[in-house]
Amino acid sequence: MICNFGAGPCILPQEVFKQASQAVLNFNDTGLSILEISHRAPEFEAVVDETIKLVKELLNVPEGYSVLLLQGGASTQFSMVPMNLLAEGQSAAYLDSGAWASKALKEAKLFGEVKVVASSKESNYTFIPKDYEIPADAAYFHYTSNNTIFGTELFETPKTSVPVVCDMSSDIFSREINVSDFGIIYAGAQKNMGPAGVTLVIIKDELLGKSGRKLPSMLDYKIHADNKSLYNTPPVFSIYVSMLNLQWLKSKGGVAAIEQENIAKAAALYEEIDRNPLFKSPCAVEDRSRMNICFVMENKELEKPFLKLAEERGMVGIKGHRSVGGFRASIYNALPITAIHSLIDVMQEFAETVK
Ligand code: PLP
Repeated sequence: MICNFGAGPCILPQEVFKQASQAVLNFNDTGLSILEISHRAPEFEAVVDETIKLVKELLNVPEGYSVLLLQGGASTQFSMVPMNLLAEGQSAAYLDSGAWASKALKEAKLFGEVKVVASSKESNYTFIPKDYEIPADAAYFHYTSNNTIFGTELFETPKTSVPVVCDMSSDIFSREINVSDFGIIYAGAQKNMGPAGVTLVIIKDELLGKSGRKLPSMLDYKIHADNKSLYNTPPVFSIYVSMLNLQWLKSKGGVAAIEQENIAKAAALYEEIDRNPLFKSPCAVEDRSRMNICFVMENKELEKPFLKLAEERGMVGIKGHRSVGGFRASIYNALPITAIHSLIDVMQEFAETVK
């Protein structure tokens, strides 16, 4: 059995891939491919409507928020956020908890003053800073909820009176959130939502059109909100497959149900990492991610032979990111708990061989 622990892009259930491939040949019995049907056709507008409805339903999005389906990945949001929220002369507050947070704040500096409220860079982002104050005059506070590369996750939304902007690219739809805590939530789709190509933005309507800057139309949230995410040609296939995947999530009991599975999956793997003397987690226990589980070996020389055995046993994508080393098991919604058990079996089998 192949178990895909890759960090992305796009780990989806087999049944979703099957439905998606069907639609490439014949979308909803139209005799046309989903790739060729007009994006202005009522059939495709229904796909956009259903995807937005599912996002609202699964995340309990309250009244007063717009759900946008954009392009350019989360990386484009790094600059769209300050462009749209940071008026001339204002400053924005950022929490520097990982590589993506650091990239986000670098872009914001192009548009105004950035106050970094805290950073764990000096300790290679092994924990999430907790002791900091968010200036009350900041235009917004930005943080990354899950640090995909370093394997840490912030489960509690920081409290502040200023709008909170969160990059949820790698943990959205994995656990329940309270959308009303946020001014903007954004996420590249390609972890738990759908294929790369579509970017989800959930924005409080009162933040639309606020910066006073002249913005290019494609980078203005208000234009996309006014045009119901169909200002230009949308990424039709990514949106369609996201819809299928969100339908799958709903059929499984929604976010609350998947959260319980995710807790169980992560707990099983961390338990083995803590128990097995060959392995250890580099991250602070209270900040350990449920989506990207980083682990290293006490004896670095054993890392290559362990990786070889794991690959022979069908484990794909567990080599760690170069900035952490060791291993990273990305365990998104679509990965079944049986895959976690298979990885644990390999860890135990390897420990036997080096006794
Ligand atoms: N933010 C986080 C937390 C990510 O994990 C990633 C990519 O993995 C990005 C941002 C960048 O996303 P994109 O490739 O969609 O620009």
